[in-house]
Amino acid sequence: MPLNHPRQRLRLRVSAAAESALRAGHPWLWAASCREQSRAGQVGELAVIYDRQNRFLAIGLYDPHSPLRVRVLHTGKPQSIDAAWWRRRLLAAVERRAGLFDERTTGYRLVHGESDGWPGLVLDRYGDTLVLKLYTAAWLPRLDEIGALLAGQWPNVPIVLRLSRSLQREAERGSPFADGQILRDPGLEAPVIFLESGLRFKAEVRRGQKTGFFLDQRENRRLVESLARGRAVLNAFSFSGGFSLYAARGGACSVADLDVSAHAMAGAERNFALNHDSETVARCPREAIRADAFEWFDHNAARKFDLSILDPPSLARREAERTRAIQAYRLLAVNAMAHLRRGGILAAASCSAHVSAAEFFEAVRHAARRSGRNFEELQTTGHPPDHPATFPEACYLKCIYLRLLSGRRLRGKPARDQATNLGS
Ligand code: SAH
Repeated sequence: MPLNHPRQRLRLRVSAAAESALRAGHPWLWAASCREQSRAGQVGELAVIYDRQNRFLAIGLYDPHSPLRVRVLHTGKPQSIDAAWWRRRLLAAVERRAGLFDERTTGYRLVHGESDGWPGLVLDRYGDTLVLKLYTAAWLPRLDEIGALLAGQWPNVPIVLRLSRSLQREAERGSPFADGQILRDPGLEAPVIFLESGLRFKAEVRRGQKTGFFLDQRENRRLVESLARGRAVLNAFSFSGGFSLYAARGGACSVADLDVSAHAMAGAERNFALNHDSETVARCPREAIRADAFEWFDHNAARKFDLSILDPPSLARREAERTRAIQAYRLLAVNAMAHLRRGGILAAASCSAHVSAAEFFEAVRHAARRSGRNFEELQTTGHPPDHPATFPEACYLKCIYLRLLSGRRLRGKPARDQATNLGS
């Protein structure tokens, strides 16, 4: 890619620990692990990392302003990173999704950052629109070429650019790129309507959260659909109503969307209207509750449900917030369980990368034990196949399904806490 390279390739040497981590395939090099550097580097240029024997170790995107100094593109034998290389890498990600989705699902992730070999870059498809989201400034100098690469692979498809929050701040300081900018527009109509498991959704690709929709919850929504028949469903942190639409189609006797945002509520209402040709969706009464979920649980003790979904935003955006986040997850689970009837199911999800799956599951199980009710654990889930997670920091999504059985447990009798599979 034609970044204005000074003549000599930027060369780095790193600590022994970083060397081992990179050799084992970890895609990040922190600034604190850099030991030597051949010269100052520019944002987005390629940096080669050598090991202590002066052998090629890895090559990646350099960013002098980020503590995450190099995002690795390739480890192993030296390779020249040219246009053909980038194309092969894109095709590898596309190939990885081959056969995952039929024509009933036209919204999914095509490229999922580091875990697809594209560090800090996400590419989502919504019907015939592509949304490219960047999480590191290192891609900005390469944007024209990435755009050309995508245009070559998908001719005549609109492409929207989205920038992470920190990049938006940077863009305000004089970058030619802006969040929501249209990189290519053969007739873009935003918001975009796409299909997920045969349901129609509208994605706000130019300004919505993430890239306009929470594509990562598709598999959990499908599970919820399979559990919903005859149940009164509460969808807490409902956003644009994804879980409740699946529940409605699955035969729920009612759905209640609970979200603090008026904008999210309006989106959910629109999405329901888009699916009124489904008999079960049209038949299912939908209630919109605009409130803070924590407060609503406290003030509505009499409201009971048979299936509750908890899918809050990330409660720990940084490591320091981890302990409080775990407490908040536990509190939410306690509250949701208090509103579940006998036999009711709780589906509790977390998207905080700083809270591990084990910690999160334990928080929810702890809440179940404290409820004094018998319960059984139905299933836990992780990342969907179009959002692979190949290293620990990439694992953010987890969900646990519990069924709350009888009323109060007899003293001294342990709660049933066993893993059984849904549907088995
Ligand atoms: N479950 C959704 C995604 C949830 S995103 C889906 O499947 O698409 C998180 C949502 O939580 C956002 O819509 C946000 O508006 C909402 N939210 C954030 N804080 C909240 C609070 N305290 N109470 C209720 N909703 C909240």
